[in-house]
Amino acid sequence: MLNFYAEQVQQLKAQGQYRTLPDICHEGKYIWRDGRKMLNFSSNDYLGLASDNSLKQQFFAQTDVGEVALTSSSSRLLTGNFPVYAELETLMANQFQREACLLFNSGYHANIGILPALADKQTLIVADKLVHASLIDGIRLSGADYQRYRHNDYAHLQQLLEKYAARYQRIIIVTESVFSMDGDTADLPHLLQFKRQYRNILLYVDEAHAVGVFGQNGLGLAEKCGCIGQIDFLVGTFGKALASMGAYLLCDQVIKDYLINKMRPLIFSTALSPLIVQWSGFVMRRLAQYQPQRARLAALSAQLRTAVQDFTQAPMPSSTHIVPYILGDNAAAVASAERLQKCGFYCLPIRPPTVPNGTSRIRFSLTADISQAELDQLLTMLTAEKK
Ligand SMILES: *Cc1c(COP(=O)(O)O)cnc(C)c1O
Repeated sequence: MLNFYAEQVQQLKAQGQYRTLPDICHEGKYIWRDGRKMLNFSSNDYLGLASDNSLKQQFFAQTDVGEVALTSSSSRLLTGNFPVYAELETLMANQFQREACLLFNSGYHANIGILPALADKQTLIVADKLVHASLIDGIRLSGADYQRYRHNDYAHLQQLLEKYAARYQRIIIVTESVFSMDGDTADLPHLLQFKRQYRNILLYVDEAHAVGVFGQNGLGLAEKCGCIGQIDFLVGTFGKALASMGAYLLCDQVIKDYLINKMRPLIFSTALSPLIVQWSGFVMRRLAQYQPQRARLAALSAQLRTAVQDFTQAPMPSSTHIVPYILGDNAAAVASAERLQKCGFYCLPIRPPTVPNGTSRIRFSLTADISQAELDQLLTMLTAEKK
């Protein structure tokens, strides 16, 4: 009976697409793997908060660790609704200046739950071609009609809207703000124009890679663009720059009330650990202070983007801290990642199906606690490799 699966595994190995769970240990901004200590250039800890032990110690010093619950033991709709959830939701609604905030167990839960709750047969979902797997799963689960527009191609989106807008009661445009593989960004003001042009459009934006990193207060690209208040469904996650776990939605109160009644991953899953929610609140209260980290990250990122663009002699899609070094075929990306790792840089090759065929790459993601000297070493190494 299991032969089928064994064959599938063999096939993945033959294609060079077999995945395993890596054996790694963390030490601040470093990763240990195979007895080698490497600087982590593949981290989502963009502000360096997860690796900041003094921050953790401050949190524990002001937390009654004997009292705080580690588990909610239940869905929030039953007995799991601890006061910390509402406290964090109120805090965030105030920070973002929106009516309501709703927390979820993860970004994956958020994205596979919100769209199926919102969309019915009268709804068309129109999504960017490169949205995250969790959004694609949410779209599929919704059972609603959907269209994909070419990545960041708003002329194509416009064509789709012209063709379909009148046939549906609602159109939900779905995008990320910072895209995870190319590090490029959506043009949020442009997307908001469609809302003015067509009366039946709602906008769904996933800020997983942008929250913490962009905006004066670290609230994301929507803050930077001054449009937090106009995005119908503003989603973000705590697992990356915010150094925690879980996800949030900023929305109108009526949407929150609706989702509490209709969203299955919210209703039928044990709520986040109250301890982790308290930690999320601790980080959120400090988020505005991390402007120096945001500035550092921006400066480091600009240097790496320029360097990669110079030695690949190819356009650089990224305008953020996620920087792709596109090598083309799988073997080249794997070999380059191995060389970089040997020199102490923990960089990972990204291959199809995660990225389109022929665009295998090293995906650098930078953090604010990488030093200038460390970045310089990487740049020297990359330049030498190219010669
Ligand atoms: C990481 C990520 C998610 C998933 O969030 P988790 O909290 O890790 O489940 C969702 N959307 C995007 C764009 C992401 O990058």
